[in-house]
Amino acid sequence: MPLIALCAGDGIGPEVAAEAVRVLKAIDSKYRIGFSFEDAPVGGGAYDKFGTPLPDKSLDTAKRADAVFLGAVGGPKWEKLDYSVRPERGLLGLRSGLDLYANIRPAKMFAPLVAASTLKREVVEGIDLVVVRELTGDIYFGKPRGVEKYAGGKRGVNTMVYTTPEIERIARIAFELARKRRKKVCSVDKANVLETTELWREVVTQTHGAYPDVDLSHMYVDNAAMQLVRNPRQFDVMLTPNLFGDILSDEASMLTGSIGMLPSASLNGTKGMYEPIHGSAPDIAGKGIANPIASVLSVAMMLEYTFGNSPAARDVERAVANVLEKGFRTADIFSEGTAKVSTTRMGDLILKELA
Ligand code: NAD
Repeated sequence: MPLIALCAGDGIGPEVAAEAVRVLKAIDSKYRIGFSFEDAPVGGGAYDKFGTPLPDKSLDTAKRADAVFLGAVGGPKWEKLDYSVRPERGLLGLRSGLDLYANIRPAKMFAPLVAASTLKREVVEGIDLVVVRELTGDIYFGKPRGVEKYAGGKRGVNTMVYTTPEIERIARIAFELARKRRKKVCSVDKANVLETTELWREVVTQTHGAYPDVDLSHMYVDNAAMQLVRNPRQFDVMLTPNLFGDILSDEASMLTGSIGMLPSASLNGTKGMYEPIHGSAPDIAGKGIANPIASVLSVAMMLEYTFGNSPAARDVERAVANVLEKGFRTADIFSEGTAKVSTTRMGDLILKELA
């Protein structure tokens, strides 16, 4: 029986997670899958109850589970805590504890929301790209690192480092994903200046040998940042090292409008953690107005990547698209002439489309 660990978290986390669970249960009965669920407290609430943002039991549950759903963690209540027990440490602990090395963030434009983008309609209409970001290597983890004194003052050092197997495994994820899409991978590097990314380009090119049906191109990161706002439709799958992907995936996600719409997956093989990209939104927590769509679309990603159930994933995406098409909006994506609905009402409407 497939097990899903539920980390609802803090702030609007539990509100949006509740809608995600309702959708999972609806899909479960429609497709007769037999999901089971176990709560795995993480974040500030877990700290209050257990004295740690990631109790061992929660990590155990996440390790045993086939997939993890996470709402969001953090909030002002815990901002003064020591760094080592802040809610966000719970999230990082889950990512490293499960060795989730591939971060996948789609940026897809829903036609009825074109006006919500900060860019012109003709630029953003029809965007459908995915950023595949390496998540456990690069300058964030390389050594030596730190700030040290020297005769002239202080000196800060971080080290950009990648090994062949690290590059190969993330490149394979990108090529496999492209095979299910428009069969195009654009690999991002700075191979003209940085030797580490020269290796990145070399290994990506070699790995591509096993995927002759996929089109591979390379782009320097500065150009990629520019092309994303100039002509984003040219991209299908963007493959990036950790640092460049951190920046480009945020840029890509903003193309499509509200942060309340964007799902993500962090994977190791088929094991994955699925979460909306937004935080716990303390400013709107408890008001019942959070947009649950990012969470619901994270469920679609879980169905696709962990459970390999593309029909169910498409079903969820179609339900969301239909609700938007019919003019229903949560407050963050509301515009004149549409109907404003609450978090749970948006959930009800999505379930109705699924039925
Ligand atoms: P945030 O994403 O929580 O909120 C930014 C803005 O977007 C707010 O105005 C918020 O109301 C709005 N927003 C976010 N999600 C929304 C949704 N689903 N529907 C409608 N509006 C939404 O970012 P922040 O304010 O910088 O951070 C708040 C807390 O969340 C902090 O403690 C931060 O550390 C934490 N955080 C957690 C995660 C995570 O759990 N993955 C990610 C980012 C931030």
